[in-house]
Formats: sequence, C-alpha cells, structure tokens
Amino acid sequence: MKKRIGEIMRTILVTGGAGFIGTNLIKRLLEDNNKVICIDNNYTGRLENIKQFLDNPNFKFIKHDITKPIKIEGELDEIYNLACPASPPHYQKNPIFTLNTSIFGIINILELAKKHNAKILHASTSEVYGNPLEHPQKESYWGNVNPIGPRACYDEGKRVAETYCYEYWKNFGLDVRIVRIFNTYGPYMDPNDGRVVSNFIIQALKNEPLTVYGDGKQTRSFQYIDDLIEGMLKYMEMDKEGLENKLKSKFNWDTIPVLNMGNPEEFTILELANKVLELIPESKSEIVFKPLPKDDPVRRRPDITMAKEVLSWKPKIRLEEGLKKTIEYFREIV
Ligand code: NAD
Ligand code: UDP
Repeated sequence: MKKRIGEIMRTILVTGGAGFIGTNLIKRLLEDNNKVICIDNNYTGRLENIKQFLDNPNFKFIKHDITKPIKIEGELDEIYNLACPASPPHYQKNPIFTLNTSIFGIINILELAKKHNAKILHASTSEVYGNPLEHPQKESYWGNVNPIGPRACYDEGKRVAETYCYEYWKNFGLDVRIVRIFNTYGPYMDPNDGRVVSNFIIQALKNEPLTVYGDGKQTRSFQYIDDLIEGMLKYMEMDKEGLENKLKSKFNWDTIPVLNMGNPEEFTILELANKVLELIPESKSEIVFKPLPKDDPVRRRPDITMAKEVLSWKPKIRLEEGLKKTIEYFREIV
C-alpha cells in the first residue's frame, strides 16, 4: 500500500544531511513524521546543525563518505542525494574529492536506490548551465560550461551525475528525478561557507567591509530555503507515472524529470550588498571591490515555468523577507 505523508512513517535517507539544505530538509521530514537516516562525512556539514535531532528516535546519523558503497539494513522508501560541497571555495579546495563525490557518489546512491526500489531526488545545480548564453535558463538549455576551469570539478561533476541518473532511469526504470537548484540561502548555512549571502551578512554584523567581487554588476536570483524545501517535497510527493505524464503532455518532455527550482527575481551583487547594509542599519561596514574569480557566471535566473505548472509551486518569500530571517539566525550564532 502507498504510504502517505503524515499517516504512515516513511524511511528516508538524506545524504549531505548535516549541511545547509540537508538540515532544513531533515527538520521538515521529522516534523512530518518520517524516519530519517542522515549520511554525512562532515566535509562541510556541521555537527551543530544536526545536534538538535540526535535525541529523536526517528533520526539516525551515519558518518560515511558517499564515494564509498554503503549498505542500509531494512526498508528505504526515499533518498535525497544532497552530499557535495556547494560553495566555490569549498568545492575548489579539493577538486578531485568534489568530482569523486558527484561521480562515485551518485553511482553508489543509485545502486542503493535500485536495491531498495527507492524513489530518489538528486540535487543538481544551475551550474550545469555554466555561464549561460540563454537567459533566463530553461531546463531544455544545454549550458555553456568550461570543462577545464576552476569551477569544472563542480559543474562537470554535476553534469555527469545527471547523466548517471538519466541512464539508471532509462535502463532500469528507476524512479529518479533531478532538481536544478539556483542560489539558495537561509538558516543553517555555515558562517564560513563563503557564499555571497552569508559572507555579506556576517561581514555587516562584524562591521567588516563587504567584499564585492568584480564590479558587482553580475546577477544572481536568490531563493529562500523554505521555498526550496516546499518545492522538493511537492516534487517527491508525485508518483512516477503522474509526474512523467504531466511533463510529457504539458511540455513534450519525454525524458527523465528535471525541474529548475529558484526564485526568478534577479539582483546584481551590488544591489544585494546595499540591501544587506540597509537591513543591518547599525553596521559600520563599507563596500570594497575585490577581483572577480575566474569563470564567474555573469547572469543567472531560472525559468520555473515547468515546476510552477507541474507542482503548482512557486517561491513565496521575497529577498528582503528572507534576508531578515537569515540575519536573525546569524545574529544568534556569530
Ligand atoms: P553544504 O556544503 O552546506 O552541504 C553539503 C553536505 O554534504 C555537507 O554536510 C558535507 O559534509 C556533505 N558531503 C560532501 N561530500 C560528501 C561525501 N563525499 N560524502 C558524504 N557527505 C558529503 O551545501 P548545501 O548548500 O546544503 O548543498 C546541498 C546540495 O545542494 C549539494 O549537492 C549542492 O551541490 C546542491 N546545491 C545547492 C545550492 C545552494 O544554493 N545551496 C545550489 C545548487 C545546488
Ligand atoms: N561574491 C561576492 N562576494 C563574496 C562572495 C561572492 O561578490 O564575498 C559574488 C561571486 O563572485 C558571484 C556571486 O557573488 O558572482 C555569487 O557567488 P556565490 O559564491 O554565492 O555563488 P555562485 O553563484 O557563484 O556559485
């Protein structure tokens, strides 16, 4: 019999569960009465994040590196594959590890899903579009990625992982779905993560200069974490046939399900810096300009037509509101 949210507990594995998205997801899955197994090797994840779950009998933590195969005893209904360093400084620190996590990691997780006949959601990224020549980016866009640059270990690793998902979906009929996540921020980000939202907030709270890379005219679209979690849960709630039929009939999409998830409101990095300073009025920080990292994408904004139509989902939290919540979080911990 099919298990439904809130009624019967499902057993759900979350890889990378001690990280930013993982912690927010696990919190919600436990609230919804599920059993959660969290796998993490603590590479960028923080034990402080998951301490709050350790007394919950429905939560289990396994310290494990997904580049190595893993066996899970008992039933497994769903897997969220989130494990991978995600911020540019972290994924570039050990690029071979990043590549291995995407490639060997997804093989091990797909094999596990196959063995348990589990449904799987794989966290891919807007980085598969690289420095996009098409704007905004639709799921059908193939991307513009440099295979031998400093971002390639992440971008190309994620592209290969998508291909593995596709081949397991095609050859074994595995219930795999891919989400391409665009810049997401919120509570439980690591203060040392290095991504722009956490950097600016922490710099402003500490009265240090806000480091804008380049001229700050490059754009990003920032999604608040609660919107992403809502979207991922809705995505996983759909059954394979219903999801694939809807994608085919509405969008003529006859391959593995892939959905962009992000907030289509686009801002320049300079606008973001000014917004953070406005929301922390006591800050004495100024803005300083630093060199632009190599291959930094110029523009990025998701086209979310497919997710809107198929899941009846769209982001609800605008930048100012999300920043306020994130600032509150960082005020407590830094
Ligand atoms: P994060 O760095 O906070 O979390 C990643 C987690 O994965 C960490 O807990 C880390 O210790 C763990 N991990 C890394 N390699 C591992 C390995 N080999 N074995 C086991 N655990 C491992 O990052 P996040 O922002 O929470 O991102 C989660 C996922 O979402 C990643 O796959 C990332 O690529 C994807 N994503 C995130 C964003 C975003 O804006 N946050 C955007 C696009 C895609
Ligand atoms: N950035 C910045 N200052 C910082 C960190 C990042 O100006 O302290 C810029 C970075 O160059 C990029 C954008 O902000 O143009 C988003 O960077 P982030 O690392 O958050 O994510 P990306 O989208 O590049 O993966």
